[in-house]
Amino acid sequence: MKLQRTRSQERLLNLLKTLNRAVSAQDIYIELRNRNQTMGLATVYRSLDALKLEGLVQVRTLATGESLYSSVLQDQHHLTCLNCGQSIPINECPVHQLETELQDSHQFKIYYHTLEFFGLCDRCSEDEEQVDSILGKGIGNRE
Ligand SMILES: [Zn+2]
Ligand SMILES: [Zn+2]
Repeated sequence: MKLQRTRSQERLLNLLKTLNRAVSAQDIYIELRNRNQTMGLATVYRSLDALKLEGLVQVRTLATGESLYSSVLQDQHHLTCLNCGQSIPINECPVHQLETELQDSHQFKIYYHTLEFFGLCDRCSEDEEQVDSILGKGIGNRE
């Protein structure tokens, strides 16, 4: 499926490649405005959708429900803390090989995959232990 890319789509794609991180549609809107390339928020969303179907942009939805967009070239995974919400990037991809295998065995054109780990970061798990010891055992006691 070869679609004609619009100027807005090209602009968005270039921006995502330059930024080299996942951003929300709102962030994209602001970034474009800062670069004097103002684009309506509706156009931003529409272009992101089109790029997504072409497999050029990937979406990552946070625990807050916010969607973050990034160029599909970045195969980045994260450890996300359920308490403070911080995301720690991990620099390896354990499923790259699996992706190739699935592509062959299912005749499915895979554009990208997501893989995330959730739990408590170092700081938050320390805080929780402190709360546990203040309250005594019984409350918040995990088997
Ligand atoms: Zn945390
Ligand atoms: Zn990966």
